Amino acid sequence: MSDINAVSMGPDAGRALHPYDEARAAAAVRELLLALGEDPDREGLKETPARVARAFKENFEGLWKSPEEVLTTTFDIGHEELVIIRDIEVFSHCEHHLTPFHGVAHVGYIPRGKITGLSKVARLVDLFARRPQVQERLTTQIADAIVKILDPMGVIVIIDCEHLCMSMRGVRKSRARTTTSAVRGVLRDPATRAEAISLITKG
Ligand code: ZN
Repeated sequence: MSDINAVSMGPDAGRALHPYDEARAAAAVRELLLALGEDPDREGLKETPARVARAFKENFEGLWKSPEEVLTTTFDIGHEELVIIRDIEVFSHCEHHLTPFHGVAHVGYIPRGKITGLSKVARLVDLFARRPQVQERLTTQIADAIVKILDPMGVIVIIDCEHLCMSMRGVRKSRARTTTSAVRGVLRDPATRAEAISLITKG
């Protein structure tokens, strides 16, 4: 697979090289409309380049954030049981077509002293989702960031998404979903992993 290196980028890779250039993005959208043969100055499109540039800033704001900013931790020495956060909404864009993929993420971890808020895990998922992505890398980056910041005994991340680049074009198998997983630490143990997966898939 040619993009194997892109897939195996670590939790720190994938950040923007410079701050967002909104004027440049708006100019690029105007250029794209011209390339389509559209008239970017007609009434309906006049505000579109500026609007799309603002939307890009929001959709890709994870490029300008680090996982440490969102995944803050507290100490709780007593708790060494599996914590599962299910059905975290994922809205991302595939980096090959810049079309959306969306679905859910399930994250489980077994703490080793450090814990985090459930909403913080959702914000971590959102941070990595708001970058040009492939689902495999999104999955591993979430797992690796949790390993790095929380130093847990184990982590499991399962992501299940529908990719509009598949649903909208080519093989019109709309509703086809892609599932990816990343497992670290003691959750690699078959019995522990089976327990986590049964908790994630029930209900
Ligand atoms: Zn795609």
